Amino acid sequence: TSFDGMGIKDDLLRGIYQYGFEKPSAIQQRAVMPIIKGRDVIAQAQSGTGKTSMIALTVCQMLDTSSREVQALILSPTRELASQTEKVILAIGDFINIQAHACVGGKSVGEDIRKLENGVHVVSGTPGRVCDMIKRRTLRTRAIKLLVLDESDEMLSRGFKDQIYDVYRYLPPDLQVVLISATLPHEILEMTTKFMTDPVKILV
Ligand code: AMP
Repeated sequence: TSFDGMGIKDDLLRGIYQYGFEKPSAIQQRAVMPIIKGRDVIAQAQSGTGKTSMIALTVCQMLDTSSREVQALILSPTRELASQTEKVILAIGDFINIQAHACVGGKSVGEDIRKLENGVHVVSGTPGRVCDMIKRRTLRTRAIKLLVLDESDEMLSRGFKDQIYDVYRYLPPDLQVVLISATLPHEILEMTTKFMTDPVKILV
């Protein structure tokens, strides 16, 4: 299997090959097409499987870069992961002129406000700071079409459950949701029931 023939935009394929990937990893082979087709997806996968690039790829594919509204939101348990995901999006999206912002705790709120008001296509952040920016109405949610919950079990064990539910309440009703988790305990299954419609389940 190759990245060609997966329905990926040409400018994005160039970005993937430039980044050094030759063929999709197992999770990319199984998750990319359903996500591109608009399905909700639960992927049980650990880090190291290519999940970050899978997120970057599908996010880049769905963005309309002629608009400057936030269209995709990625929540991660740590600042490091949120920033890493932003970096991979910018690298893979090198030929499609993407504006991305890592919205994480510990960085200046002023910088978040400046970047968000300038207009970005995608926000990759930690639940606390993202929730804060939404409540300040600095992060506008009305054009968000895709929510990615990365390392969901880790987000719950770090106590972000209430903030995730809070963020979800501000998002439009016809939202596509992708949930990634190494394990699927009861609280995660509860989230999938609440947030997702007829999800495709992928075990890597
Ligand atoms: P991740 O699980 O996304 O953090 O990826 C783990 C490592 O695998 C990272 O160093 C990625 O750059 C690399 N990687 C992800 N997808 C691919 C691919 N399709 N081909 C080669 N390397 C990859």
